Amino acid sequence: MGAHKKPHRIESAPRAETPLAASLRMRISREGPISVHDYMQACLADSQAGYYATRQPIGREGDFVTAAEISQVFGELIGVWTATVWQAMGAPASVVVAELGPGRGTLMADALRVFKAVPRLLDSVCIALVETSPVLRETQSETLRESLAPLQWYERIEDVPQGPLILIANEFIDALPVRQMVRQGDAWRERMVTLTDTDAFAFNAGTPLERDALPASLRGIDAADGAIAETRPLASSLLTALAARAKDAAVAALIADYGHAESNIGDTLQAVHRHRFADPLSMPGEVDLTAHVDFAALQDSARAIGLAAYGPMPQGEFLLKLGLASRCERLLQNAAPEQQAAILSGVARLADPRQMGLLFKMLVLQSSGLAPTPPFGDI
Ligand code: SAH
Repeated sequence: MGAHKKPHRIESAPRAETPLAASLRMRISREGPISVHDYMQACLADSQAGYYATRQPIGREGDFVTAAEISQVFGELIGVWTATVWQAMGAPASVVVAELGPGRGTLMADALRVFKAVPRLLDSVCIALVETSPVLRETQSETLRESLAPLQWYERIEDVPQGPLILIANEFIDALPVRQMVRQGDAWRERMVTLTDTDAFAFNAGTPLERDALPASLRGIDAADGAIAETRPLASSLLTALAARAKDAAVAALIADYGHAESNIGDTLQAVHRHRFADPLSMPGEVDLTAHVDFAALQDSARAIGLAAYGPMPQGEFLLKLGLASRCERLLQNAAPEQQAAILSGVARLADPRQMGLLFKMLVLQSSGLAPTPPFGDI
């Protein structure tokens, strides 16, 4: 996204009535406060009025820009990573390359160009696009219309055909809803969204959570009054699905996102509208909601269910180790002089630690029997 997920200015928008706001108000009046998790889930994923179902969010005209849209080098280097992993798997004659939340389809289009140069890879690969938004499915099929590999769309990772799997998820996990727990006195409470006397949305704390309802990571953990902790149940389900598949076939997943390498306490829920930070409770369904990815939690959970985990490695380092500099040079050689500045600034934006290079990170999860591939191991 434009601001690279670093809060700078909150836009104080007047309270606008969105279609989702009306139905959430009715739901809260009827059932009482809903959890932050359910609020975020409704805002992003409601099949009628949710953010992703109703718009084209990515790009200058939308709300945010992703690495894949900044430079073609990003998708190409992920293509290089994919090809190397396929070779490390023993170059199986049939492999599914799946992408979770492919956005505009740009990353996959750039990766597919690299696949063309790898003998036998294009003949072996089926592309699985896991996408819930009909609007984005449309854009993806347009971007990928010349794909030389077969394409298939799925609603959920669990629906993707069995067999060897290489999975890519760029800025996907940050869009999965988080649960927030708030510490009050000696108890953790679910953080909720409720309505004020004037019918505005507001946060409040639910009843104390019994030990069984508390995520394992918070049991016996003390924190200052008012501290907020987050967990991401759907990320755990994704890991479970990967671990289950890894029992029968080779699996490798590249998770690229923004977030922290160590688990810590704090509220990271944020809203973005037209490249600026917004209030997460304003305009439900009309603003992008995300929360930081807790890479340490992902890594620990993955290892606990038998997957190997490498990283998280800062995005800049990951791309440089996979050949960012030489790819950039090659692009420059073939570019018209007036395109060169844009190529260089795109590449710098991806890798510079002051831009996306450090905040964004890559984590590789794979079958424990599979040797680590670059940039984590030799070929
Ligand atoms: N990976 C892309 C887009 C990131 S935006 C890029 O880097 O440019 C998040 C993407 O995930 C969108 O395509 C959105 O429609 C999709 N998405 C969000 N929640 C989803 C879910 N639960 N299941 C499948 N796709 C989802």
